[in-house]
Amino acid sequence: MVYPGGVAALSDVSLRIHSGEFVAIVGPSGSGKSTLLHLMGTLERPTSGQVLVAGQDASRLGDRALSRLRARSLGFVFQQFHLTVGLSAVGQVETALLYAGVPRRRRRALALEALDRVGLAARAGHQPQQLSGGERQRVAIARALVNRPALVLADEPTGALDTANGQAVLELLRELSREGTTIAVITHDREIAAALPRQVEIRDGRLIHDSGRVPV
Ligand code: ADP
Repeated sequence: MVYPGGVAALSDVSLRIHSGEFVAIVGPSGSGKSTLLHLMGTLERPTSGQVLVAGQDASRLGDRALSRLRARSLGFVFQQFHLTVGLSAVGQVETALLYAGVPRRRRRALALEALDRVGLAARAGHQPQQLSGGERQRVAIARALVNRPALVLADEPTGALDTANGQAVLELLRELSREGTTIAVITHDREIAAALPRQVEIRDGRLIHDSGRVPV
C-alpha cells in the first residue's frame, strides 16, 4: 500500500484469517497496523494486491457493492468509539442495520438483542454522553456485531479506556469469540496480544511474524 506522497505503508503482506479466529495484530506506532485494518476493512483500496472478504474480491467491486459488503460482512470498533452524537444506544445499533438493508420493522428487536449481548439492555435509551467510556465501547461493539459480520475489526479498542474498563471490553471480545465471532484486534499492547490465540506482527510495513492459525 503506497499512500499519495510515496509512503509505502505496507508491502508484501499476506494474511488469511479463518472463520472463528481471534487474532492480534501488533507492532509499534507507524508500522502499518491501521493501514492493514483499513485495507482488510475495505475502507481503502490497495495500490496493488487483493483483499478478499467472505470470499468476495473487494478490488473487483464498485463503490455501492463495496459499501454493501462492508455493511453486511464487516464490523468496526475504533479507539474513540465513533458514536453519533444525539442518538440513543439502540439508535446507534439500528443505524448499522439500516446500512445493511435490514427492514425497519426488524431493526429494533435485533438492536436490542445486540445490546443485550454486550450487557447494555438497560442502557438502550441512553445517549453517548450519558454513558461511561466502557459503555460507549460496548455500544460500538454491539453495533459492530449486530449484522453477524464475517469479521470484526477492532483498532485499539481499549486504548481510550482505563484498565478496568479495558479489561471488561477485552473479556467481552473473548466471550464473543467463544460464541463464534471472528475478530482481529489491533494493539500496541503486548500483554493484550499475548493473551490472544494468534499474533501477527507488523514492522516497517512488513509482516515479520505470524504465530499461525489456531484451529477453532
Ligand atoms: P500504525 O497504525 O501501526 O501506527 P499506520 O498504518 O497508521 O501505522 O501508518 C503506517 C505508515 O503510513 C506511517 O508512516 C504513516 O505516517 C503512513 N500513513 C498512514 N496513513 C497515511 C495517509 N493517509 N497518507 C500518507 N501516509 C500515511
